[in-house]
Amino acid sequence: MKEENCIFCKIAAGEIPSTALYEDDDFRVILDVGPASKGHALIIPKDHYRNLYDLDDELASKALLLAKRMTVKLKDVLECDGYNIIQNNEEAAGQTVFHFHMHMIPRYHGDKVGIGWHMGELKEKEKEEILNKLK
Ligand code: 5GP
Ligand code: ZN
Repeated sequence: MKEENCIFCKIAAGEIPSTALYEDDDFRVILDVGPASKGHALIIPKDHYRNLYDLDDELASKALLLAKRMTVKLKDVLECDGYNIIQNNEEAAGQTVFHFHMHMIPRYHGDKVGIGWHMGELKEKEKEEILNKLK
């Protein structure tokens, strides 16, 4: 399941060059061309899924397992101090390439990687609304 004109379909298939750290039947793991920090990598499935919403269940589990294995190994290789695993869904959440991928961003003490948010307050009304709508 590939999509024409999808850059990550082409990268995952090896049709567009990338720096691959790992490859198997389902995924290619590459270095991000615009890294947030040294070693920023992307897990990209070879089949096309727009994002997490329509990702195949089995691939979803495999992707997290792969993220675990890759970060456990890469943290020693890179000698980083931490890791963020980030996965953006839709434009409002910062997704720019509409082929599912997971970011593995190594963190170093004192780095200037800007991942964060201002903590809000959990409001009783919102809590009730969410719980009621989920039923
Ligand atoms: P998103 O914003 O969709 O979550 O992340 C897309 C990521 O893909 C960005 O971090 C961007 O730097 C990376 N990217 C976009 N095009 C290419 C490319 O052609 N090669 C590589 N290696 N990374 C890319
Ligand atoms: Zn694609």
